[in-house]
Amino acid sequence: MRTARATANTTLVGSEIERNLALIEYEAKTCPCGGSKQGYQSFCTRCCHALPPALRAGLSLSIKSGYVEAWKAAKAYLVRIGRVKEVAC
Ligand SMILES: [Zn+2]
Repeated sequence: MRTARATANTTLVGSEIERNLALIEYEAKTCPCGGSKQGYQSFCTRCCHALPPALRAGLSLSIKSGYVEAWKAAKAYLVRIGRVKEVAC
């Protein structure tokens, strides 16, 4: 019983963490690839150029209209092409 409740809580907290992580990485001056980037940008110039236009476009969405999902998709893509190392949470 206790385990089931803990799992449900983790799911809720998990999406909150993801949103915070997206914001922290957005403001950071280091790109997930390890390169340097300007603050208030999702990724460094090289990573941005590596993204397909559809994924890049998603990064200009606001946090309430799908930015976190777009950011996750873009980061997953960068992991898939080997620019970003997958981080175990
Ligand atoms: Zn980068």
